[in-house]
Amino acid sequence: MILGIECTAHTFGVGLVNRRKILANQKDMYKPEKGGIIPMDSAMHHREVAQDIYQMALKEAKIKENKIKAIAVSNAPGLAPCLHEGLKFAKKLAKRLGVKLIGVNHCIAHLEIGQSIGAKDPVLLYASGANTQVIAFAEGKYRVFGETLDSGIGNFIDTFARHCGIPFPGGPKIEEKAKKGKYIELPYSIKGMDVSFAGMQTKMKQLYDSGKKLEDLSFSMQENAFAMLVEVAERALAHTGKKELVFGGGVACNSRLQEMAKIMCQERESKYFCPAKSLLVDNGAMIAFAGELMMKDKKLLMEPEKLDIAPRQRTDDVLVTWR
Ligand code: AMP
Ligand code: MG
Repeated sequence: MILGIECTAHTFGVGLVNRRKILANQKDMYKPEKGGIIPMDSAMHHREVAQDIYQMALKEAKIKENKIKAIAVSNAPGLAPCLHEGLKFAKKLAKRLGVKLIGVNHCIAHLEIGQSIGAKDPVLLYASGANTQVIAFAEGKYRVFGETLDSGIGNFIDTFARHCGIPFPGGPKIEEKAKKGKYIELPYSIKGMDVSFAGMQTKMKQLYDSGKKLEDLSFSMQENAFAMLVEVAERALAHTGKKELVFGGGVACNSRLQEMAKIMCQERESKYFCPAKSLLVDNGAMIAFAGELMMKDKKLLMEPEKLDIAPRQRTDDVLVTWR
């Protein structure tokens, strides 16, 4: 039984996995009253809920804590105070249970959880609040084939929504509005394999302030921004010769983005994998799942005091020794 702890940003989650089976997945999310995440406040949230979420996970899995053989924790990348709080909890628990720790890269966990629904060697389209990346395994490492040059797609949508008086998280409400919209021209910016949202953001705010309908702006934003992501994902599939696409991140809950990706995959005879919502968003089960895979390499298991946080770790900084 592997315990997984997610703590990189707004979510504190605890998952339990045994031989690739997810037995528990509990979480609680810090929600700022207004504006974006305040890292210290989110860390405090994690400290406050950690014990309860842990107990709820044990209860869901119906196991005693002495069944836990190792603890996986998302020690990178993310907000330093949040990582620190999660690692502190993990270390204390590991010492008490007399087990070792394994540090899991959060982005890689989003990719690996694709294996729980049948993906073997996928390209990941990771579309969350803070992160927007296309990642795949190549030449011994998980590599970022394309990413945002400015804001993450979720933050981009939320910022526009906030401009129009819609509170966080704006994504789901913008999706609703988009259903009644029609297309107006907006910037479409892809640079090489990277995407940029800043120009579209400025244009949308201008158009909204000059009286254009939110429905039309929401629809057009989705058409352009999601097509940009799917275009980069498709080119990563073409370049790597891979035949599987996996979704990750909160924005991947959007049905229009899912629809676009499905069509793209059909057209190039690739398989499309979309985890359940509870595994798409930040969660502890994917950390436990990735941790269990990584444990094939026993050297990755560490004495609790040896593990540290790595807030700026890049996906391709990680030496992949478990595949
Ligand atoms: P995450 O950072 O992965 O926890 O995801 C949170 C982000 O997902 C926020 O920016 C939300 O606005 C966004 N989001 C959630 N549901 C949707 C949706 N249906 N459409 C677009 N964005 C969404
Ligand atoms: Mg995430």
